Amino acid sequence: MLIVQKYGGSSVANAERVFNVAKRILATQKEGNDVVVVLSAQGKTTDGLIAKAKEINPKASRREMDMLLVTGEQQSVALMAMAINALGGRAVSLNAVQVGIETTNTYSNARIRKIHSERIENELEQGNIVLVTGFQGVNMLGDMTTLGRGGSDTSAVALAAALNADLCEIYTDVEGVYTADPRVVKDARKLDEISYDEMLELASLGAKVLHCRSVEVAKKYNVKLVVRSSMSDAPGTEVKEECKMERMLVSGVAADKNVSRISVLGVKDEPGKAFEIFDLMAREKVSVDIILQSNGHDGRQDISFTIGQEDLDIALKALEENKERLTAQEIAHDENVAKLSIVGAGMATNPGVAAMFFEAMYDAGVNIEMISTSEIKITLLIPRKDIDEAMIAVHDKFKIASVNMRKD
Ligand code: ASP
Ligand code: MG
Repeated sequence: MLIVQKYGGSSVANAERVFNVAKRILATQKEGNDVVVVLSAQGKTTDGLIAKAKEINPKASRREMDMLLVTGEQQSVALMAMAINALGGRAVSLNAVQVGIETTNTYSNARIRKIHSERIENELEQGNIVLVTGFQGVNMLGDMTTLGRGGSDTSAVALAAALNADLCEIYTDVEGVYTADPRVVKDARKLDEISYDEMLELASLGAKVLHCRSVEVAKKYNVKLVVRSSMSDAPGTEVKEECKMERMLVSGVAADKNVSRISVLGVKDEPGKAFEIFDLMAREKVSVDIILQSNGHDGRQDISFTIGQEDLDIALKALEENKERLTAQEIAHDENVAKLSIVGAGMATNPGVAAMFFEAMYDAGVNIEMISTSEIKITLLIPRKDIDEAMIAVHDKFKIASVNMRKD
């Protein structure tokens, strides 16, 4: 078998853990497999690099940020190669340029366009374990790019797809995908399996266990994906197309604190204004999430929307600069918000789920600021201070930990 394994930053945080992972990799090879391993930067290395950059230039360009951040993953693969070699194995580390991981030009949030498989295949043929830097790529200009925070998962799944691997294992510091963040919700339960679609929603709504685009890629190329712990031999969670074993009303609750709300107030109530605002955001490469347009008054209306916190400065600057053209009276923003979402494939066919969600918020005394729904998810924007309490309340309401499991 050809297996792609990905180990997250916590799994390789120090020398002891590097050796722990090196042993796992060697054991996988010993079972007769070809092994390609994708690594993240050690522990909080990426955060540390970002903090360093901020000290020097808080408005550093995304190009230079990427140039800096890719060094974290490069450290990990080189150190892991040394560990494997020290244990008597044979490993070679490669960065994105050496492999040929081509991405779009967008710095700090690039997308993989193509992965060249020749170099990796050559190394495998020679009996090497191949260690590849996660999170990074190279764009058409030959510059280093990164795939967005947590992007190593996407590197791994894309590699698995490009190499036609039999399995892609994502190793992390929890035992799989949980019904809610187990650090907040004490009775959160590990799922044995989850569908690509549900996982996609959970990941995009703030469940940090998998990078959202990794699930997109897995679904598109039908990559066999498993999320499991690098510290134990527990089987983990399988992410797949169809889940037959359990189809729950709500399979997971996700919270995202990395949100800000922007309100463009008093915009002239005429065609084209929403287009102008969101076209401006698109040009700045800011992704917009929940959108709310208020009823007009005096020929004017308010348009509010949420964005990732990291885009706040860029978005506000662009809006302020275009305030007149947009006919806005004021640009307001709120950073003290968070998103709480429930996801479940069973939701589409069960009326009353939204009402139960709102009731849970009412019982917990939490005020709802914005609402957004799709077939298999409901998202609320609520005050950030209430997020943990609200997550526990909704997890409890749907009794996700115990009952509500429908076999079909
Ligand atoms: N090191 C990068 C980050 O912290 C990528 C990753 O860990 O997946 O976001
Ligand atoms: Mg991660």
